[in-house]
Amino acid sequence: MTSNSDAIIVGAGPAGLACAVAMRAAGLDVMVVEKAASVGAVWRRHYERLHLHTDRDHSGLPGMAMPGTYPAYPSRAQMVDYLESYAARFDIRPAFNTTVSRIRRDGGMWRADTAQQPISASAVIVATGIADPPYRPSWPGLASYSGLLLHSSDYRNPQPFAGKRVLVIGFGNSGGEIALDLANAGIEVALAVRGPVQVLPRDLLGFPILSWAILQGRLPARLVDFINAPILRLAVGDIEKLGLRRAGKGPRQMVEEDGRVPLIDIGTLAAIRAGTIKLRGAIDRLTAGSVVFADGNAERFDAIILATGFRPDLRRLVPDVDGVFDHHGLPRVTGGPTAAPGLYFCGQITSPTGQLREIGIEARRIAESAKAYLPK
Ligand SMILES: Cc1cc2nc3c(=O)[nH]c(=O)nc-3n(C[C@H](O)[C@H](O)[C@H](O)COP(=O)(O)OP(=O)(O)OC[C@H]3O[C@@H](n4cnc5c(N)ncnc54)[C@H](O)[C@@H]3O)c2cc1C
Repeated sequence: MTSNSDAIIVGAGPAGLACAVAMRAAGLDVMVVEKAASVGAVWRRHYERLHLHTDRDHSGLPGMAMPGTYPAYPSRAQMVDYLESYAARFDIRPAFNTTVSRIRRDGGMWRADTAQQPISASAVIVATGIADPPYRPSWPGLASYSGLLLHSSDYRNPQPFAGKRVLVIGFGNSGGEIALDLANAGIEVALAVRGPVQVLPRDLLGFPILSWAILQGRLPARLVDFINAPILRLAVGDIEKLGLRRAGKGPRQMVEEDGRVPLIDIGTLAAIRAGTIKLRGAIDRLTAGSVVFADGNAERFDAIILATGFRPDLRRLVPDVDGVFDHHGLPRVTGGPTAAPGLYFCGQITSPTGQLREIGIEARRIAESAKAYLPK
């Protein structure tokens, strides 16, 4: 497989599709390469009850809003339908079942190696997402734990956990929502929260929280957090009373400085208040059937769900470039020209103003910049 395209786009999730549409609109011929068999592969495998936590009006991709018939917060299945319609509407036909194993410079071109054949083009856009690979922390005794142990990315629904005592580890959006899913199904569930946290309501004074974040987008993070603190306290309630510790950094500062997204509460706090989700602290070690917490208490759990996020590191995919990645292997620049001309990244961000929205903005910026690679 060779390519006569101006650009190769790696990944057919929201970022890859948005880039394809924006770049085509800018006059570039693109080839999209996807390792899975369909578009939006990652959304197809997320847990079943997942809904967007960003609102419909701020989650559409360039050139096609989400349908007005969708609810304010579309479901995972609706997101998949939307991505399929988006690709169909703009006639984006990725090369499916094609994994790019390596991207490197080859003379004046970029070469993407695949199991089939290498593909070459003047520009390459890495749109491989941030939901891979799963991060699985380790504790002493982990190997001896005999219960069910899985990462949140392998969780689908509460059914396999009926009658079990489950510990969900991590207070991110996946952890909070999976614990809620289990609690709503009547399953005994505890949530292990190691450090201080921030919680945001999904809507504030009748408007999506994202609208507020966008409105305050140009203000410094510290100022935004200072202004919002009193109203957020009123909206969210006293989380310390529930046994949580509020982080010193406000929600906006947490996202901008640490790349940590606060819990957008869709019922987890109410379930903690009602006692259907129990709170536990940091974990010290595991035994055959129990978890020993840092406070010395030991408890039996039949299953542990690691809602501990992902650790993408793109240095293996793009090994031979200087000044492109930080020490975690994340690109220093996403959505614009990098230190390697013709190499772009889209969607490698945690944004306080909505990642899907930001992906659309990045795609347009990349398209504008990549026009330089059109044949003269
Ligand atoms: C559980 C969850 C909920 C989220 N909810 C929201 C939300 O409500 N609102 C919001 O704005 N954001 C949300 N996000 C964040 C973000 O918008 C999504 O992760 C979004 O899917 C990112 O799009 P993407 O195209 O960058 O990555 P992905 O959707 O992860 O797509 C990447 C694609 O690249 C393919 N790929 C990877 N490596 C290769 C390779 N080497 N060769 C070929 N193909 C490859 C993958 O198969 C995949 O199809 C959520 C994220 C998660 C994990």
